[in-house]
Amino acid sequence: MAIVILGAGLTGLSAAYHLEQNQFFDFKIFEKESTPGGLCRSIEEQGFTFDYTGHLLHSSDAYFTQFLTDVVGLENLATVKRRSFIYSHDAYTPFPFQVNLYGLPSEVIIECIEGFVNRPQAKKNPRTFYDWVLKKFGPGLTKYFFLPYQEKIFAYDIKKISASWTGRFVPDTSLEAILRGSLAAPQDQDIGYNSNFFYPKKGGINFWVDKLAKKITSPIATNYTVEQVDLVNKIVTFTNGDFERFDTLINTLPLDIFLKMLKEPASSSLAPAHKKLLCNSVINFNLGINRPELSDKHWIYLPEKQFIPYRLGFYHNFSKSMVPENCSSMYGEIAFLKTPQTSPGTLTREAILQMQKLLHFNDDEILVKKVMQISHAYVIFDFWREKNLPAIHTALAAHNIHSIGRYGAWKYASMQESLLDGKELAEQLLAELNQGAVPPRTQSQSQVHP
Ligand SMILES: Cc1cc2nc3c(=O)[nH]c(=O)nc-3n(C[C@H](O)[C@H](O)[C@H](O)COP(=O)(O)OP(=O)(O)OC[C@H]3O[C@@H](n4cnc5c(N)ncnc54)[C@H](O)[C@@H]3O)c2cc1C
Repeated sequence: MAIVILGAGLTGLSAAYHLEQNQFFDFKIFEKESTPGGLCRSIEEQGFTFDYTGHLLHSSDAYFTQFLTDVVGLENLATVKRRSFIYSHDAYTPFPFQVNLYGLPSEVIIECIEGFVNRPQAKKNPRTFYDWVLKKFGPGLTKYFFLPYQEKIFAYDIKKISASWTGRFVPDTSLEAILRGSLAAPQDQDIGYNSNFFYPKKGGINFWVDKLAKKITSPIATNYTVEQVDLVNKIVTFTNGDFERFDTLINTLPLDIFLKMLKEPASSSLAPAHKKLLCNSVINFNLGINRPELSDKHWIYLPEKQFIPYRLGFYHNFSKSMVPENCSSMYGEIAFLKTPQTSPGTLTREAILQMQKLLHFNDDEILVKKVMQISHAYVIFDFWREKNLPAIHTALAAHNIHSIGRYGAWKYASMQESLLDGKELAEQLLAELNQGAVPPRTQSQSQVHP
């Protein structure tokens, strides 16, 4: 095959779709699970639909919106205005924290304002996320939100994380905005990259990825688990004994797993890098509750250490189709690095008890409990990654291997970015092919995989 795509999550599907959109069919796509979708899967149980934690479609790109219109159909998507909150000091304050201090104890508000006014400016280009946040928001806001929340979500010391991931994810602020948000409850919540989102009217987040998968005419080889990738002979071997040759490989599997599977010449020695790439895991517990309107919010950030989860969300507010009549459903997310100190089972049980207290529901009301573990959740932007990642991608590219997507590229990426990654690479490869000697084959000439 000219092109082999590993992984049929959103990125792999997008690469396949965009190759076909450009009349290129000389590729195969392999996926270890029995269905495509990757993290954008949804599970149905007793009338409840759960995602692998809340997956909301934020669009900041004209092509992505167009894609949703054309492929998914905007009539199938609800446009929802965010209702997201932070729970701290026994109070709910709207997100983003820095401009919504109203309702918090006065001494906290004063510390945040004073800290912002006197924020340290000595470091010209702060290197760590901690220094960056301190310079941008000051010690008060850092202490009450950014430090505890980010350490919970990454399960990592933010003094050892680079500031490079922040970008559009942390909205700017001004003294005026902080003061306004301290004196009165805010009116307008259109702040930040996620103030509105799309969500499928039915079927959970999998609905739109399923639509994308169905647009791809080439078969997707599911139940194919990659076991080894031979760099020299350009052969991928699967656990079932099958193998596939490639000219170009698009990898969307997590980069650490991919590097571990490499059979490579000793000179390139890429494989050992897999031990150095850090990411955390997330326990995602989902509950179906026998009560309507458990909460009117979409999601809640829990920065305080006393709570085990870092975030909660409520599927019934994304779409009524996610729950049976007169029911609600929620998810919680718990992050850990490598092995949690307490067993995942105990952590989850304790976290659910905490949520029962916070949201006032009892055991009898829990109709369904579904716990999923996301082994690769948030990539850790440590300094080893910063220094070595570009060289890893360059070395792979020298073998015609392009590692893309949230985990293939080893970065922080939304669904929008994953879709665009697949599109951009497909177009780049086709442009290179068209300049070279090999003419792209048409569908009728290509050999399809079973
Ligand atoms: C907790 C959490 C919350 C998120 N929330 C949002 C959100 O609200 N909005 C948003 O836009 N984005 C969100 N994201 C990001 C979003 O999930 C990703 O951007 C996107 O799903 C990544 O797609 P991908 O195809 O790159 O990776 P994946 O979905 O991981 O796909 C990789 C595929 O490779 C397959 N695979 C793995 N190993 C092998 C193997 N050995 N052989 C064959 N196949 C294999 C996997 O089964 C999978 O199908 C969230 C992510 C997380 C972790």
